[in-house]
Amino acid sequence: MKSLTDLTFDNRFARLGDAFSTEVLPEPIAEPRLVVASPAAMALLDLDPAEAECEEFAQLFAGHKLWHAAEPRAMVYSGHQFGVYNPRLGDGRGLLLGEVVNAAGEHWDLHLKGAGQTPYSRMGDGRAVLRSSIREFLASEHLHALGIPTSRALCVTASNTPVWREKKESAAMLLRLARSHVRFGHFEYFYYTRQPEQLKQLGEHVLHCHFPGCLEQEQPYLALFREVVERNAALIAHWQAYGFCHGVMNSDNMSILGITFDYGPYAFLDDFDANHICNHSDDSGRYSFSNQVPIAQWNLAALGQALTAFVEIEALREALGLFLPLYQAHYLDLMRRRLGLTDAAEGDEALIQRLLQLMQGSAVDYTNFFRALGDSAPAQALARLREDFVDLAGFDAWAADYQARCAADDGGQEARRARMHGVNPKYILRNYLAQQVIEAAEQGDYGPVRELHAVLSRPFDEQPGMERYAERPPEWGKHLAISCSS
Ligand code: AMP
Ligand code: MG
Repeated sequence: MKSLTDLTFDNRFARLGDAFSTEVLPEPIAEPRLVVASPAAMALLDLDPAEAECEEFAQLFAGHKLWHAAEPRAMVYSGHQFGVYNPRLGDGRGLLLGEVVNAAGEHWDLHLKGAGQTPYSRMGDGRAVLRSSIREFLASEHLHALGIPTSRALCVTASNTPVWREKKESAAMLLRLARSHVRFGHFEYFYYTRQPEQLKQLGEHVLHCHFPGCLEQEQPYLALFREVVERNAALIAHWQAYGFCHGVMNSDNMSILGITFDYGPYAFLDDFDANHICNHSDDSGRYSFSNQVPIAQWNLAALGQALTAFVEIEALREALGLFLPLYQAHYLDLMRRRLGLTDAAEGDEALIQRLLQLMQGSAVDYTNFFRALGDSAPAQALARLREDFVDLAGFDAWAADYQARCAADDGGQEARRARMHGVNPKYILRNYLAQQVIEAAEQGDYGPVRELHAVLSRPFDEQPGMERYAERPPEWGKHLAISCSS
């Protein structure tokens, strides 16, 4: 175990120099207090969870103190926002404090979000409000617990510093952890500003630090692109299988590591709706739930364009062509597991599609359906779930086909339940749950957000006494408008 003050830093990204980032000191927020910390994320830095209780903890993560070896810097990048190229973005309200090396030798970026203005703040105030910081914290740690690749969150601190959005709110900071903060947009920035040397430096950095295996390949940059395509295919398959809607899939919010990154107006589906648009500002539905698949491919094409500096375009095209089939294979695999199926069969894709259409037509709760399907033997589970469907003939036909698929599996109901409950969460981060704990936190009560975080850290476990967190949203919580203004 390490103590908070003796973390070991090795700031590899900072050493790339001023073409890549600018030195900026965090601007502290007033009277900071710890809202919530993640013991699991602290463990990544070898920190004892008890360290969160000391006063220094909130000081460090609210910009009042810094480690001697930290080198806070704002990174420059660009990217395609809603399909339109924005030539200059960057860390407008977050700073890379440095890279901590843990006992296992892993480097973890410490990124302080809401740390004040930087040269990339444009018209913004450099701040993050409490509500959006809590939302990112909860989602980061929950997606990780669900087995979905993601950046992590160490803690949120609240303050008395006022911030103006649609109304007066208060500033908060989130400490984000990731193995890298390099985005697709980093590559785009150096490509479109015609800085081939820096583009190469960035590429070498990413290869050496994060994809050393690619360096052994004949064409390292092609191998890198292929790997990013593969990782994104797996990532998006997880999002689609678990009903996660990111909301702002701009290329500057896409991580080169293929992890969920830059949480904004995200949502998990309550009722299944393939067309769900979780971002209130997304008028055209560009980032609707089902569009996440083609949009990921679109973003990969934008990254591929920046890599034409290193690789023949035909080879990049071929690698990009792997995305859809890989996505489809991952997705089918995840959905088969969610259905409790232990092998693959010809008609599985159609079986899954028919189920989703039935769920869509009857506004069935996406998470609770799969959990209940594993609770009892197929016949009983289906008889109970039937009540939730409007198209009974359609459901009965589907149920018969599903049961026929289950018949081959003779492991017994106990094994089936354990298997299915291991992949079908009982607890999911519903928008209304986040909203409830945010309202309490805004009143200074951090108990609810801590409890919700604890529940969502074990989403597959039965947690006696916590059943209310598995309930469908009340009427007020069904259509919460979440916008980008955070
Ligand atoms: P996001 O929508 O959070 O991915 O942010 C898009 C861009 O706007 C990034 O370059 C952010 O750093 C910047 N940005 C967002 N909010 C603020 C803010 N309050 N102050 C300064 N920059 C911001
Ligand atoms: Mg962003």
